[in-house]
Amino acid sequence: AKWVYRFGGGTAEGRAADSALLGGKGANLAEMAALGLPVPPGMTIVTDVCGWYYGNGKTLPDDLRKQVLDGLAAMEEETGRTFGGDTRPLLLSVRSGARASMPGMMDTVLNLGLNDETVQALGHDAGDARFAWDTYRRFIQMYADVVMGVDHEIFEEILEDEKAQCGHEYDTEMSAVEWQHVVSRYKEMIEEEFGEVFPQDPHEQLWKAIGAVFASWMNPRAVTFRTLHNIPAEWGTAVSVQAMVFGNLGSTSATGVAFTRNPSTGEKSLYGEFLVNAQGEDVVAGIRTPQSITEEGRIATGGEKPSMEKLMPEAFAEFKAVCTTLEAHFRDMQDIEFTVERGKLFMLQTRNGKRTTRAAMKIAVDMVDEGVITHEDAICRIEPPSLDQLLHPTIDPKVQRRVIGSGLPASPGAASGEIVFSSEEAIAAEAEGRKVILVRTETSPEDIHGMHAAEGVLTTRGGMTSHAAVVARGMGIPCVVGAGSIRVDARNDKLLGVGGVVLKRGDIITLDGSAGQVLAGVVPMIQPELSGDFGRLMEWADKCRRMDVRTNADTPQDARAARAFGAEGIGLCRTEHMFFEGERIHVMREMILAEDEAGRRAALDKLLPMQRSDFIELFSIMSGLPVTIRLLDPPLHEFLPKTEAEIADVAEAMGMEPGFLARRIDAIHEFNPMMGHRGCRLAISYPEIAEMQARAIFEAADAAAAETGAPVALEIMVPLVGLRAELDYVKGVIDRVAASVAEETGNATAYLAGTMIELPRAALRAHVIAETAEFFSFGTNDLTQTTFGISRDDAATFIPTYQRKGIIEHDPFVSLDFEGVGELIQLAAERGRRTRSDLKLGICGEHGGDPASISFCEDAGLDYVSCSPFRVPIARLAAAQAAI
Ligand code: ADP
Ligand code: MG
Ligand code: MG
Repeated sequence: AKWVYRFGGGTAEGRAADSALLGGKGANLAEMAALGLPVPPGMTIVTDVCGWYYGNGKTLPDDLRKQVLDGLAAMEEETGRTFGGDTRPLLLSVRSGARASMPGMMDTVLNLGLNDETVQALGHDAGDARFAWDTYRRFIQMYADVVMGVDHEIFEEILEDEKAQCGHEYDTEMSAVEWQHVVSRYKEMIEEEFGEVFPQDPHEQLWKAIGAVFASWMNPRAVTFRTLHNIPAEWGTAVSVQAMVFGNLGSTSATGVAFTRNPSTGEKSLYGEFLVNAQGEDVVAGIRTPQSITEEGRIATGGEKPSMEKLMPEAFAEFKAVCTTLEAHFRDMQDIEFTVERGKLFMLQTRNGKRTTRAAMKIAVDMVDEGVITHEDAICRIEPPSLDQLLHPTIDPKVQRRVIGSGLPASPGAASGEIVFSSEEAIAAEAEGRKVILVRTETSPEDIHGMHAAEGVLTTRGGMTSHAAVVARGMGIPCVVGAGSIRVDARNDKLLGVGGVVLKRGDIITLDGSAGQVLAGVVPMIQPELSGDFGRLMEWADKCRRMDVRTNADTPQDARAARAFGAEGIGLCRTEHMFFEGERIHVMREMILAEDEAGRRAALDKLLPMQRSDFIELFSIMSGLPVTIRLLDPPLHEFLPKTEAEIADVAEAMGMEPGFLARRIDAIHEFNPMMGHRGCRLAISYPEIAEMQARAIFEAADAAAAETGAPVALEIMVPLVGLRAELDYVKGVIDRVAASVAEETGNATAYLAGTMIELPRAALRAHVIAETAEFFSFGTNDLTQTTFGISRDDAATFIPTYQRKGIIEHDPFVSLDFEGVGELIQLAAERGRRTRSDLKLGICGEHGGDPASISFCEDAGLDYVSCSPFRVPIARLAAAQAAI
């Protein structure tokens, strides 16, 4: 088998499109090499080897050895160096790289090939012994960490101790002899702790490093990352072995990372950070605070140290040109790693850069304007759920800010929460439903769970490309990094802000991730503006989609919010929610507790004007857009008091004997209310309820039409139908009321009568039910519940276990079960339309706002989806993507 693909010297065996085989990093290294960009030569061991490794007791295929050695020989020829050689030694980086980007989750070993001999040769060759010993100590540190499992903190302790003894603050101040001493101490420590000497054979180092990188595919943080991002374990990682170039070769050398556009705002300007005389890991680790690449960036961030543009004008100019080439080639914003070795530029990585949603939006819209991508490309580049970030609050600009510290604006949006100092605390707090801000000196990949649990993240060290910044942007949570003016004293549960402010663990702070500020206490926030790039992209999306997007709204507030978000009607108005408000609950109870029809009618007469005024308001807000009103659905005892104390209160308010009330409640108690006396069953038992609702609806429609001048596009929906006869009965009631209201007012309101499809029987008998129903709305919450026989309210006790044990992949109440519930939907749609070709079809469960489910609805030929107001923009975008 061909296990190894080479790159370098202007050619490559693979391409960017081969990322499944070569991993994203390996594929793009190949692409860059083939484009003739300055990439150190190397080879990529394919992801299939990862599968082989785990399938064969963590061993490597026999024929891999020769292919790697051949690749090594080619690298030696290309560089004029020898692996393990005693004159011009070739050093290697052994890098992980999966199909999907998993930044920092797996391991990489740099500077491999050094030993007590080659370190001398390296120093001699470079004319810089200090560099050689610095590189050797880096190698030991990394190799011991990755391959031998030595805790890197032990090395840091030795290094700190050594620096203190020499009176140095920074690594860069260390001399050759001092580094050499560090190396001896490292090696002694390894011998003491492990009883074995640090391996001196470069080939042994290489094979062990390759094995360790494959092994890192299964390390806990990589596994967690994959779970969070739905990356299958079968994909595996590739391993790229590449010739080293050195950013730590004195003051004309440097290493850095850059984005071709600003990843936070999307602005079209090169954006990056670098460190002089350093190696790649130093930038990410936040050991020194990095410098801006561009002069513009330096000024914007108030940096004191010179930019790369000033310091290394030639390398900078070349780098800038390469960035332009790469962005044009990949037609997307790139996230780039590079190194300058004694003034010469080398490209080490490029990938489509992670960005905030705001930036993604701006970049997509700008690239359409630049003629680089199409409207459809732009639409497909935004992850619908990420729009949530833009819909999140920001701090009210009018409020007085109590700033207790500031740092870099690493991820936008604002959030308030209690201060916690560890990921464990954050996770525990989330479980208790408390909102927290995770405050750390810096974060590492181990913190990923804690960051997820937090509302926002604050670090006191690190730059815009530090771990905390990258991860927070990906998660869409506000983040401020490098807030050097704040001191974290985690040991004493304290945080010291500017001006002597002392806050304790549990105190509330607010982060403004867009301004990079930390504020004391809770701060008023406002909703964001939905115009500009957002507005343009949504307009394009609206042109592309076939399905309408409606909202589930029960109140005027919901309806107004949804219209502002672009809803094209109401797909579900749950009338029962109107009965809980204020005084109405009393009248509702009167109705429920009435002993005969006359008593019920008396109470219903009081409810009628209340319902009517609600509907008038809803119809007016929706002026002419379709509104689907569902008749009363829940079991009646939901409106009654439960505890003894509540019963006593209500009895008193209603002038009733508490014992009598308790007996009435007992009489309508049900063992399984979700499958009990509810939905159309209520309308059949007590037609006067449906009559009142229908009258309120028709009178309101008449009034609203007169008021707005737009006829109401009315749809009346009967819940929980399983039998056509049920629908026929309730529709009969509706039709009679419609006729008599028309007679009274002299105006007949046009309306559709339809049903929810939320019982498997209704789906199966759709062709018969459609003889009466003029529309179907798939109530996928109940349909999921009734199809699975899983109670929605009790699912949480075992669904997570099911997921952990691999019994189910997704919670079917969150993402539609395409196979079972989905088949019922398809079947009902098909059978229904066979009877009535213009049968209107929609979905109104929670799934109506879930992008995967929306894509399913597109394929099933539904006319619209309906979701909660805040998900309307998400649904608009997802519906467009589904149609493209
Ligand atoms: P990650 O996926 O964690 O970014 P990488 O494989 O990209 O891991 O490597 C980590 C760091 O090592 C990067 O900063 C990169 O620039 C640096 N690096 C990797 N290969 C080389 C090389 N051949 N020469 C110099 N630096 C390298
Ligand atoms: Mg990298
Ligand atoms: Mg239902």
